[in-house]
Amino acid sequence: MDIQASVFNDIKTILDKTKARLVAVSKTKPTADIMGLYDLGHRDFGENYVQELLEKSKALPKDIRWHYIGHLQGNKAKMIVPFVFLIHGVDSMKLLVEISKQALKAERKVDCLIQVHIAKEETKFGFDVEALDGLFGDADANLLKGVKIKGLMGMATATDDRQLIRNEFKQLKKLYDRYARYPTPWSDFNTLSMGMSSDYDIALEEGSNLVRIGSLLFGNR
Ligand SMILES: *Cc1c(COP(=O)(O)O)cnc(C)c1O
Repeated sequence: MDIQASVFNDIKTILDKTKARLVAVSKTKPTADIMGLYDLGHRDFGENYVQELLEKSKALPKDIRWHYIGHLQGNKAKMIVPFVFLIHGVDSMKLLVEISKQALKAERKVDCLIQVHIAKEETKFGFDVEALDGLFGDADANLLKGVKIKGLMGMATATDDRQLIRNEFKQLKKLYDRYARYPTPWSDFNTLSMGMSSDYDIALEEGSNLVRIGSLLFGNR
């Protein structure tokens, strides 16, 4: 068995214990690497550039579920909306409304996760915690007919401080539990996307049910 296969099997074994799902983050990696995991039965892959996602989705098998995990610009939403499986990083109301509009044009409903700003860094995208009440409380249902918010996504601070990471994940899980209790016509929670190669073990302990793992599976970028 090659290295990729054995790492994949190890991660799957860990995830099976909590029934968490795996998105294999294949950004910057060639299609041959994706096919390596595809041939092991894996179908969920994550990309963070629209152009790269379009090229790979054209070249690769149609039963792959493509996850968009990057920052999405509104004017590019229409390019991925027709086929994307889940958009993880919705970080503004404006973007959510645009995705909805394009989804209706494409005659489908698009599943989205709201990215929440939990990290210390200024640079990370996402809704501020204070803005979530508006989104789940009194948004205009007519503007969101093309989307279903399936949950939340977050990235912890890039740090060696494991306790800080844990606290940030705890905070996200708390928010997830709060908004999961009040489904709306535009939301119906089942997905908490948190954890990457360096911190997915902590994320699972704190209640993640979907991890996004790149470098562990495909090597450093
Ligand atoms: C790149 C990326 C990942 C995967 O990171 P690794 O450290 O390679 O596992 C996960 N989530 C997002 C949003 C990313 O951009």
